[in-house]
Amino acid sequence: MFYDCAVIGGGPAGLTAAIYLARFHLKVIVLDDRRGRAVTIPMTRNHAGYPDGISGWELVERMRSQATRYGAEFLSTEVLALEKSTDGFVVSSKSQVIEAKTALLATGVINHRPPMPVHMHDEALAKGFIRYCPVCDGFEVTDQAVGVIGTGEHGFREALFLRSYTTDVSLISLDDRHNLSENQTEVLMRHGIKIVTGPVKAFALHADSITVEVPAGALSYSAVYPALGTEVRSGLARSLGADCSEEGCVEVDRHQRTTVSGLYAAGDVVQGLDQISHAMGQASVAATAIRNDLSVQNPLFRS
Ligand SMILES: Cc1cc2nc3c(=O)[nH]c(=O)nc-3n(C[C@H](O)[C@H](O)[C@H](O)COP(=O)(O)OP(=O)(O)OC[C@H]3O[C@@H](n4cnc5c(N)ncnc54)[C@H](O)[C@@H]3O)c2cc1C
Repeated sequence: MFYDCAVIGGGPAGLTAAIYLARFHLKVIVLDDRRGRAVTIPMTRNHAGYPDGISGWELVERMRSQATRYGAEFLSTEVLALEKSTDGFVVSSKSQVIEAKTALLATGVINHRPPMPVHMHDEALAKGFIRYCPVCDGFEVTDQAVGVIGTGEHGFREALFLRSYTTDVSLISLDDRHNLSENQTEVLMRHGIKIVTGPVKAFALHADSITVEVPAGALSYSAVYPALGTEVRSGLARSLGADCSEEGCVEVDRHQRTTVSGLYAAGDVVQGLDQISHAMGQASVAATAIRNDLSVQNPLFRS
């Protein structure tokens, strides 16, 4: 089957693109292994238009049904390889091989998790004891005790960011030492951020708190933010030789075109503010660019 576009990734970015592309009367397929960040959001309260909040799962389901209504097709599978062909791309997944004139990479990132059993992690995430996105939900921890697990520039920035919500912030190193400059240490101390040295030995969940066990004792928090970095899912782009940043984010122009002709990228996999609204905005730009770039060959898609 030959598609106008193969969208790889069915999170907010991929699904926004699918809605736009289907409504441009293009033939689009979304290949998705449903291991993204959006579906793990217990409740987003900063996404415009949902004053009472909406779970990530429900938002994604609504977008899937919207894309389906306009003719987008779906394949639940992991894409293993993306190759160039004379007419576009060959997309090889665990279940099928498909061909498409263009491809949009919307594969997102994966957060590095703190060392705790999967079931405990998922319960903590659902209850708001583990949080990954201060921009999204820092508001929810206003005036509460917050632990940030991390160190270095990333941990430093996250702890400082959260300090604007609450006076009770601790920066906890995962290992037995911090990696902070003198200046960073001075800034943290000046703002009353506690510097706690690990190693983090264990976590425990309680009715209204999470405790983190470190050599100094079991410390109790309303929420813990792991600031341990991410793995960018840009391997498919890299395999085609697309330019990526040092951290692995796919480089794009202002129309979301990568450096590989016919390959576009949007959402967290691209450098930017890792937010649903940003992913959607980038995807709408990418979809319109795909439509316009394809129209150079055939301005009347339906003929
Ligand atoms: C706990 C948590 C809470 C958050 N809360 C908010 C919030 O309140 N507000 C907000 O704006 N943002 C929030 N975010 C950030 C938000 O989730 C992301 O910015 C957003 O999901 C990015 O969308 P995306 O489509 O780029 O990536 P994702 O949502 O991660 O989707 C990527 C999709 O690609 C698929 N995929 C990847 N590789 C492949 C492959 N090889 N083959 C097939 N499929 C593949 C994945 O399975 C996934 O379905 C939160 C993130 C987390 C982790």
